[in-house]
Amino acid sequence: MSEPTLLSIQSIRRLSFWSVVLSLPAWLGILVLYVIERLSLAEAAASVLIALILMAALVFTRIADFERIARYAEAALENPTLRQPDASSSETSQRLMSAVSTLQRKWVDERSDSAAQSRARQNILDGLPDALLLLDQQRRVVGANAAAHDFLDREPGTTGTGRELVGRDLAGVIRDPKVLEAVEQALAQNKRTEAQFSVSVPVERIFRALFVPLRLGTRDGTALMLALQEQTERLKMDRMRADFVANASHELRTPLTAILGFVETLRGPARDDTEARDKFLVIMLKQANRMTRLIDDLLSLSRIELREHTRPTDHIDVGAVLRTTAELLDVQARERKSAINITMAPDLPLALGDASELGQVFYNLTSNALKYGGGRGPVELTAQTVETRPPTMPGQGPCLKISVRDYGEGIAPEHLPRLTERFYRVDTARSRELGGTGLGLAIVKHITGRHRGLLLIESEVGKGSTFSVFLPMATSPEVGAKPQGK
Ligand code: ADP
Repeated sequence: MSEPTLLSIQSIRRLSFWSVVLSLPAWLGILVLYVIERLSLAEAAASVLIALILMAALVFTRIADFERIARYAEAALENPTLRQPDASSSETSQRLMSAVSTLQRKWVDERSDSAAQSRARQNILDGLPDALLLLDQQRRVVGANAAAHDFLDREPGTTGTGRELVGRDLAGVIRDPKVLEAVEQALAQNKRTEAQFSVSVPVERIFRALFVPLRLGTRDGTALMLALQEQTERLKMDRMRADFVANASHELRTPLTAILGFVETLRGPARDDTEARDKFLVIMLKQANRMTRLIDDLLSLSRIELREHTRPTDHIDVGAVLRTTAELLDVQARERKSAINITMAPDLPLALGDASELGQVFYNLTSNALKYGGGRGPVELTAQTVETRPPTMPGQGPCLKISVRDYGEGIAPEHLPRLTERFYRVDTARSRELGGTGLGLAIVKHITGRHRGLLLIESEVGKGSTFSVFLPMATSPEVGAKPQGK
């Protein structure tokens, strides 16, 4: 810190004033001595001068000290790490300087404590998955967490531009009338409000905007917290559940209606028609079988879903499972003038799994291959080890790959991502005619998910399809990842 300049007009004025004021008692004494003729005029004048000079010297050192303390305190406000200047001339000034210095140190400590606290709070907020914004009474953004910056930066339906969020009106950040109505209501009535809004680009996402009034009394005037909670997945699941019930009921109702219709006919117009009765009974049996298959598949699916989070631990000989599958489907293969060929890599390691569930996987895939492609060539089952897993399969290292290939009609690319959805069929009428329930691939996907495996579908229209199941080997290191599946 530079030495204070005392020669300012103000300082000189102050110095002169206090020198004169403080000299007054001495001057009064000198006057008395002069009046009673103890001092000559010359002596009195010299004494007055000496008293003034002494007082001026004293006042100068004090003013210099105070000046230094004042400048130090002012500079310390600007620069909290400033060192205390060298000693002052009096003990009082020295104490004052030390007190200012202690205050300054405490202030620096408190300031860094509160900065650390506010950093910690920001870190906590940044760690939350939901986007959070703090708003003032004028609905201006006064704070935001990392998720809010990310979300408002990335979603074209919103207009945030990262760090510039702070200071903006919410109306310029989320342009949805329902959200703005909710914020106005929360501010006016000081109560929690919420609104749902969606952004449609790049994909449709639905959010709940929850406004919570805060009574923090902070200097930035924070009045509300806005939490943006994504609802897309939950709403999708709700919709899927509702669709599933509707689809399952519909699938059961169709054969049931047919059976009831035939029963009515057999009781009425066709009562004595033996030929018609035999024909109708065959159809009724077919419909009843269809209902049985559907109920069996629905039960399998719900059983697998219940066990989906516990991973199977048996050591399975995949070759044996494939041979059993081929035997079970031998008749169906012959009926379709096809054949099931199995090719196994030598010394194939055991898989980690559940024999009956894997049996169901390869039965469904092979049966589909026969149904949708059997007439055009054989169905080939191959099992081998692959060194690296597909990127979306949990865990690392080698795994088993079992493929079911047919040379049938193939599947157009737009259907591939939806094939494993329940009741999704490329051609519903055809699937029904072939005895399909629309649940076979959904079951396959859930079982491979439970095995921490993966189902990969490749297909080319007119050339055929390959459904590959990747499974962890019995010797694979354990993976604790969640299974795939809807
Ligand atoms: P489905 O009981 O109808 O066969 P899946 O879930 O097993 O039900 O299969 C869903 C749909 O996928 C089928 O309806 C069919 O359109 C298509 N699909 C499945 N496997 C094949 C295949 N190997 N070749 C052509 N299409 C197939």
